[in-house]
Amino acid sequence: MRKIVTPQKNIVVIGGGIIGVSAAYYLSKQGRSVTLIEKGEISAGASAGNAGLIANGFAIPIAAPGVPKQGLKMMLDRSSPFYIKPRLNLDLIGWVWKFVRACNTKQMRASIPVLLALGQGSFDLLDELHETENVNFGYEKKGRLIAFTSDESFEVWKKDAALVQEYGVRTDLLDADGVKQVEPNLLSSVKHGIFCDSYAHVDPDRFTKEMRRLAESHGAEIITGTAVTGFETTRGEISSVNTSQGTFTAKQVILAAGAWSAELARKMKLSLPIQPAKGYSLTYKRPPISPNLPLSLAERKTAVTPMGDILRFTSTLELAGFDPTINQRRIETIRRSVREYLTGIDELDEHSEIEWFGYRPATPDDLPIIGRSEKIENLIFATGHGTLGITHALITGKLVSQITGSEEPALDLEPLRAERF
Ligand SMILES: Cc1cc2nc3c(=O)[nH]c(=O)nc-3n(C[C@H](O)[C@H](O)[C@H](O)COP(=O)(O)OP(=O)(O)OC[C@H]3O[C@@H](n4cnc5c(N)ncnc54)[C@H](O)[C@@H]3O)c2cc1C
Repeated sequence: MRKIVTPQKNIVVIGGGIIGVSAAYYLSKQGRSVTLIEKGEISAGASAGNAGLIANGFAIPIAAPGVPKQGLKMMLDRSSPFYIKPRLNLDLIGWVWKFVRACNTKQMRASIPVLLALGQGSFDLLDELHETENVNFGYEKKGRLIAFTSDESFEVWKKDAALVQEYGVRTDLLDADGVKQVEPNLLSSVKHGIFCDSYAHVDPDRFTKEMRRLAESHGAEIITGTAVTGFETTRGEISSVNTSQGTFTAKQVILAAGAWSAELARKMKLSLPIQPAKGYSLTYKRPPISPNLPLSLAERKTAVTPMGDILRFTSTLELAGFDPTINQRRIETIRRSVREYLTGIDELDEHSEIEWFGYRPATPDDLPIIGRSEKIENLIFATGHGTLGITHALITGKLVSQITGSEEPALDLEPLRAERF
């Protein structure tokens, strides 16, 4: 095996998704020497085909009161957008137990301002990025409309809107005419809407690849096709990172391997409660009649995102482990669901359809894990971003650069500690 000694490259980032490349960008911009190691290609994980929302409005964690009861019902329904494959897996059982414990009002209310602070931090950095770098990844700030075909689900969401309003998030409740004004390309089956302007969207694959380009332009070394296989430790610190291509010396290591972070942590005898939460998307060439802004189809739990010349539908959250099969029943459900809300769907070019899935790195309390390990001094976690990794990428990268540089982090990291579980 080739032994690679990189004394000058003293920070190793593991994972080339949006979190890893964002960390590499902010570290290299600070003048730090960085090597990012990715087992496949950049953006090969969850960061490519997702909904691309920078979502800073309904900052209510999935772990909320009432969810376990609802989840239990859905768990038994294989076509439901939320699904837990029942199986005897100790990690999954432990994760579900922690999730159920987190589903209470106190914890939910404690998480909302944390999520909003992370989201606002990323919005500020997105503006800064556009001022300081020459970037283009389809960033558009148009807000998001939640579309409702039933009175019942509108009533439920009205409560959520009132809840986030307590934390300063503006939402507009719309009747059918109001909905038509905001988004004319919806069917008359849509009776209500909630518009929230604190949403933006990007093309997430372009975002990830642009962040890689920027990191490289500031001197980061990006190595693809190289899997991290283990770690060597000396006096309780990681001294080197073993890979399929040899050994890399490391002064500090950033674990940003998304849904795979738990298995890498295990190699360091650490336990991270992260489960792969699989989601699907369908992407088409954008038809002549299509939505102008991102939509959420409330009853069908499906997101619709127009991204330049493409139109993407995303849905489902499946806790079924790392299962690379594409469940055609779910794909068909997405195709059917959008027809209940959108006009112009008959114009979709079926030949341009791309089916995709990705594993969200899900934590039990729906907050990411960001910060220095309390057990291994030179290990920094940047993982567990669940449904919001695109949203929280830039602030995570910035925080990582502050932690590794022993600067005061821009946000309180206490709620994001790995050891909180
Ligand atoms: C359907 C769907 C819709 C979504 N919509 C949104 C949205 O609208 N807004 C939003 O904010 N978020 C959204 N998300 C969530 C978002 O996609 C994730 O939170 C985010 O992509 C996680 O980024 P990451 O860098 O942590 O992980 P990933 O992008 O998965 O990257 C991890 C990388 O680590 C690499 N890796 C793993 N093991 C090793 C190893 N041993 N050695 C080297 N490399 C390794 C993998 O190959 C991978 O490239 C969505 C997700 C899905 C699935």
